[in-house]
Amino acid sequence: MTPKAPPVIEIRNLHKSFGALEVLKGVDIAAKKGDVVSLIGSSGSGKSTLLRCANLLEDSQKGEILFDGEPVRWRGEGQRRQPADRKQVIRIRTNLSMVFQQFNLWAHMTILQNVMEAPLIVLGHAPDEVEARARALLDKVGIGDKCDAYPAQLSGGQQQRAAIARALCMEPRALLFDEPTSALDPELEQEVVKVIRALADEGRTMIIVTHDMRMAADVSDHVVFLHQGRIEEQGPPAEILADPQTDRLRQFLSATV
Ligand code: ADP
Ligand code: MG
Repeated sequence: MTPKAPPVIEIRNLHKSFGALEVLKGVDIAAKKGDVVSLIGSSGSGKSTLLRCANLLEDSQKGEILFDGEPVRWRGEGQRRQPADRKQVIRIRTNLSMVFQQFNLWAHMTILQNVMEAPLIVLGHAPDEVEARARALLDKVGIGDKCDAYPAQLSGGQQQRAAIARALCMEPRALLFDEPTSALDPELEQEVVKVIRALADEGRTMIIVTHDMRMAADVSDHVVFLHQGRIEEQGPPAEILADPQTDRLRQFLSATV
């Protein structure tokens, strides 16, 4: 990778409204290969919407989204703007795997089937190859013995680790996490944080929405504080979290500790 390589994911001046409610008011964010960017901010500040816009689960009205330097092509403008190229959307979406707060595993499938489903169906990879990869990933997140269990038989922390294995099995260019530890009891949270830290250590590109300031401090290269749809402050975690410059970030941090 040359230093000049474009970011894996880059968002420029993104605007997003739901009807009359403007949720994102010109947001810029980028993650280069190997970057871990944490996105923090109060509930309702637009964090989930930003992630969903990034992988084109939501439409946006203005601004650019670039994937490996390639801009998303749009048709129409403003409220009528939509991605113009279905194949491009699928390529981007399959390369930005998302991990959700509520795991979103399929209840009627075993853990192994959950992890194998998308690479088999969406990517059309060979079953033997996908199964080997899925088993290795489940081992890696520490639940190799749960392949044949159903989601309901697992703890929340185990389910979230299965969801991470599922995201990895797509061999994405980047991972997007939306509050991956918020639904977990504190003692289960740490086992998921450990997996995320290991992914950071191996150089994965990640954008992580989180309420967990310790994890943000621990794993990120860059922290972005979103407030009412705008970036209020950003920088390396040691600066942002230890020495906030704005009252809003100071207030936010003192309320979350
Ligand atoms: P966060 O993840 O930071 O808590 P969200 O991105 O979920 O914030 O929401 C930002 C704002 O957008 C909130 O005011 C929320 O009510 C609104 N919002 C989110 N999704 C929708 C939707 N599908 N329709 C209408 N409003 C929405
Ligand atoms: Mg959210």
